[in-house]
Amino acid sequence: MTRRTRTGDLPSLRHANRLRVLRELQFVGPVPQAELARKTGLSPASVSNIVADALRAGLVNVTEGVRGRRVKLVSLSPSLGLAAGIAVDHRHLTVVVGNLSSQVLHAATAPIPSGADPAAVIEIAARVTEEGVATAGKGQQLVSVGLTIPTPVASRPDGDLSVIRRATAPGWWEMLPAEWVASRFGAPACIDNEANAAALAEWSLGAGSGCSDLLYVQVGDGVGAGLILDDRMYRGAGGFAGEIGHIVLDPDGPLCRWGHRGCLEALSSVPAVLDAARVTCPDVSTLAEVIARAEAGDPGCAQALTDAGAAIGRALAMAVNLLNPQRVVIGGLLMAAEAIVMPEVRTAYTRGVLPSMVVSTELVVATLGSDAGALGALALAIQALPDVALLGSAVDS
Ligand SMILES: [Zn+2]
Repeated sequence: MTRRTRTGDLPSLRHANRLRVLRELQFVGPVPQAELARKTGLSPASVSNIVADALRAGLVNVTEGVRGRRVKLVSLSPSLGLAAGIAVDHRHLTVVVGNLSSQVLHAATAPIPSGADPAAVIEIAARVTEEGVATAGKGQQLVSVGLTIPTPVASRPDGDLSVIRRATAPGWWEMLPAEWVASRFGAPACIDNEANAAALAEWSLGAGSGCSDLLYVQVGDGVGAGLILDDRMYRGAGGFAGEIGHIVLDPDGPLCRWGHRGCLEALSSVPAVLDAARVTCPDVSTLAEVIARAEAGDPGCAQALTDAGAAIGRALAMAVNLLNPQRVVIGGLLMAAEAIVMPEVRTAYTRGVLPSMVVSTELVVATLGSDAGALGALALAIQALPDVALLGSAVDS
C-alpha cells in the first residue's frame, strides 16, 4: 500500500489522476493548486480540471488564501466524514477524531483497568470514540478506524490491513480480527503495531515528511521501528519488519522480555534505563526523575542515559549500513532525555556507519512527541480508506 499511488481497479486514467489529487490532500491542510500539481506530477491544467470536477461533486472545498500572493487553496470536504485513530498501550488509550485531511478535531485519553481483555478495551475505545465523534462532528459519519497496539501484528502476505491481523505477544491480543473491531465501530477498521503507526505519522506529518526512504525508531517501554522504503511502508514477509529492539548488541547483557540477552531493548528501553539508574538512586520510579537526577549531577543516572544512547547509536549504525535511508527519525518516551541521550547516539552512530552514510543519511529527533501513536493510528485509518470513500458517487462519472 502506498500513499502516493493507490489506483485500485479504477477504469480510467482520469479516475486515477483524480484519486491521486484526492489522496495527496489526505495529509496536508488547505494547499495551493500549484503545489498540488508539483506534488502529484500532473500538469497545472489537469489539476485545475480535477479540482473543478471534485468541487462540483462536493469532494473538495476551495477557499481564497494568501501564500505570498492571493491563491486558491484546496482541501478535502468535511462532508466526506470523520476518521478515528486509537492508540492502545498497556495502561491507557488515546483516541483522536479527525477529518480526512488529518486535522485533529478532538482528542481524549482513558485509563485501561488492569486485567482488561481486548473486548473490554475495545468497548472503552468505542465509547470514547463515540463521544469524540459527537463532540467533533457536525453530523458527519465515522468512515474509518485505525487501531494501534503495543505488540507485533501479523499481516497477510498481501499486506491488506482491513482483513484479519493477529497480534502475537503471548496472552495479549492473540486473535483480534479487524472485522470484529469494525463491527463494533460500524466503520472499516485496520490494526497495526504502534511503531509502524508512529512511523507513518512522522512520515506524513512530522520529521520524516518529504522522505522516500525513512527509518523511524521508537524508544519507550519497548523499542521498535517502522520502515518506509521507496514511499511504501515495508512490513516484511509476516508483518514483523522493524523489530530493531531485538538486535543483540551484548551477548552477555541483560535478558529482554522475549528471553534474548543483551538486545537493544534490554539496554535502552525506559524500563532498562530505570533499572540501571536504580543502582545509584534506588528510589527513582519515572524517567523524569532519572533525567532530573542526571541533571543534578548523579553519575549513575547520567550513565544510565548515556549508555542507552550509545546502544541506540550502535544499533542505528547497523540498520543504516544495511538500508542507507534518507533520514532516521528517533522518537518515543526516551527522547524526553534528548539533551543527554542524543550526543551519545550520534557519537556511536558516526563511529559505526560508513563515512558516506553520515553524509547521505540524516539523523533527526521526532517532532510529534507522544502524539505520534494516536496520529499514526489516524493516518492508518485515513490511508486505508477505500477509493470509493474518497471519490463518492464520482467514482462512476
Ligand atoms: Zn530481545
